[in-house]
This record gives sequence, C-alpha cells and structure tokens, in this order.
Amino acid sequence: MLKLSGNFEHFNELDFSRKMFKVTSNYHLPKVLHQDCIFLNKGNDLHPNFDFQLTFNKKNLKQSNKNIIFLETDFKYLSDDDVLVLDSKTKRTRVLYRTNSPNNYILLTERCNHYCLMCSQPPKNIDDSFLINEAMELIDYLPRNLSNFGLTGGEPTLYGDQLITLVNKFKVFLPDTQLDILTNGRAFLNQNYSLALAKIKHRKLRIAVPVYSSNPITHDYVVQSEGAFDETIKGILELKKLNINVEIRVVLHSVTIPDLVSLAKYIVRNLRFVDHVALMGLEITGFTRANFDLLWIDPWDYKDILSEAVSILNDYNVPTSVYNNQLCLINEDTKSNYQKSISDWKNEYIDECKKCTKILECGGFFSSAVQHGYSNHIKAFKNEANQI
Ligand code: SF4
Repeated sequence: MLKLSGNFEHFNELDFSRKMFKVTSNYHLPKVLHQDCIFLNKGNDLHPNFDFQLTFNKKNLKQSNKNIIFLETDFKYLSDDDVLVLDSKTKRTRVLYRTNSPNNYILLTERCNHYCLMCSQPPKNIDDSFLINEAMELIDYLPRNLSNFGLTGGEPTLYGDQLITLVNKFKVFLPDTQLDILTNGRAFLNQNYSLALAKIKHRKLRIAVPVYSSNPITHDYVVQSEGAFDETIKGILELKKLNINVEIRVVLHSVTIPDLVSLAKYIVRNLRFVDHVALMGLEITGFTRANFDLLWIDPWDYKDILSEAVSILNDYNVPTSVYNNQLCLINEDTKSNYQKSISDWKNEYIDECKKCTKILECGGFFSSAVQHGYSNHIKAFKNEANQI
C-alpha cells in the first residue's frame, strides 16, 4: 500500500507554515515557475537552483540554507507533476495528486450525517473546512488534460454552497475532466440546491449515490439514519429531473446481498434513467473491521445472486459494473460487467495470483483484505478453457 501522508524533517527554518507544491525534476524549469514547485532529488545530491527541494538523503539537510525537506524512502514513488502539501507546524506532508494514478480523489471532509455499518472513513465531528479550501487551491495545480478526479468524504454536501463553488471551479479550469462526487444524495432533495448544481452545466459531472436496498428499513439500517432512504431517492429524482449524471452505488455484504435482486428490480422499475450502477465488493477497513462478523460474506457464496441482479439490470439496459471483486469469484455471465477497479495505491495480489493467467484483467484485492481476510475460493485461471 502506497503511503500518501507522513512526517518530514527539515533543518533550516522553513519559509512557509503550510504550502502546496507541484513536484518537478526538470532542471530547466524557468525560474519564474519555481515558486510553486518543489525539486525532487532522487539521487544523493541537491540541486543548486531550487529554493524548495525534496531529498531522501538525510545528510543533505545541513548542506544548504534553502528549504530542504527530507522524506522517507516510502515516498520515492513521487514523480513529476505530483502535488503535495507541506505543513511546517505538524511536519506532515500529504500527497494530493499522483500523475501515475488512474484514479485520483480527495477527501473533502470527515464529517457525515450517516454512520454506515461499513464506512471506510468513520465520521468525525470536527472542523476540517480547510480541506475544501485546499481542494479549491489544488485545482490550480492539476494538469489541464486530467481525465478524471473524485471528491469524497464524509459527506461533501455538508459544505452547502461551498461545494457548488468548488464544482464551478472544476468546470471552469478542468471542463474535460470527469468529476465524480460521492454523496448520500439527501441534500439534493432541496430543489434550489440541485438547481444550483445544474446551473453550472458541468457536462462531465457525475454524482455517485449509494442505495443499499429496495427496503427503506434495510437501507436506513445500513446507513444508520432514519428517513435516509426516502430523502436519498428524492435527491436522485431531483438530480435526474435536471439531467445531472447519477450513478447508484451498492456495497455488497451480508446485509445488502439478501435484497440485491429486489434492489435491481426496484432500479429498473423506478430509477431506470440512472446513468450507471456500480456493484462494489467490500473493503475491510474502518467500521467494516469492527462489524466484520455482521458484514462478511464470501463473494463465492453470493456469485449467483450477483449474476441475477446484473442480468436484470443488463436486460433493461441500465449500464452496470461490478467493482472490487476478484475475477475468479464471479460467474461467467457477469464477466462482461466486471471492471478492474481497486485504487492503485491500495491494490494487492496474493501468491495464488502469481500463477493466474488472468492477473492483468483482475482487480485483485484491497490491501486490507490481504491483511484481514478474503475468500477461501481464490483459484488461479490456468488455461484458455477458463478464460473469458
Ligand atoms: S487468482 Fe487470478 S482471478 Fe483470482 S484473484 Fe488472483 S489474479 Fe484474480
């Protein structure tokens, strides 16, 4: 698992308290652009021309009167155009964007009005509003040809109009970047709020909204919030009324699986106009670890239910993807909906995978699954006869 945040060391007093930088290893970068860049020294020495520099060699800390930052070798993956923020008070860095990652997203807040059984980012009632300001600033550092970017939480809509302002800045600066916002969707039942979002006319915006069951009681139980189902469905309806792209997300676990086929039927009867349905394997992190016994079901044991749900959605031409599962744990009829999806920084494979002929097509495992548990039925594909 890649390390995206950590401590740093420095020797001289730094010229800033908190600052965002674009990483560069370009010696020839015009001086006028140096201010927002930090030079990446992958070798042992420092570069004489840059005021802000990263080094993995501790000896360099005392070698210069410039702003020299020492990072552990865990960060050696950094490369040109990555973006990081340094906080000199806490001596912590966080990597906000990686050029080499196909799926960059940032957390906008840890606050949330849900308390989902399997939340990977357990909510905290803290003032972390600096994160949305940081996201606003980050846009200035992102490449203009960025293909996709995601905003997640917590619940991003708790920012109200500030989120609308942020989306507007994405539209202005990165109009061709697919922007995904993960939200429980409840805020969008307010017509004025949905309308404010629609007025931005961001043609590459997608709102991803979890719906866990066709039964309101089950959905509300999963998100631990009474009345959530009704408000979420109303939110989706308002968004679609305004022609905003909506994805429904379903996390697959032992509380949601029994109703999965009913949920697929509910979607094709009532929400057939949604743009995408994502059926997502469970990540064993956050609250899932605390609720493991309640939530865990071996994907092998629900593969037929998954097939039936996917088949219903396919029959009604609702674009559907299966995310975060292992290719050897799904039925043949589900494979055309399968996506290799686990974020690269937390993606791993186990020993059995080394002999698998489908490893390049398979999404593998979350690092947390490798650590805490996965199916007993993982079996390498060995020959053409097994291939999709
Ligand atoms: S054995 Fe093959 S299909 Fe199964 S998880 Fe490993 S790589 Fe994926």
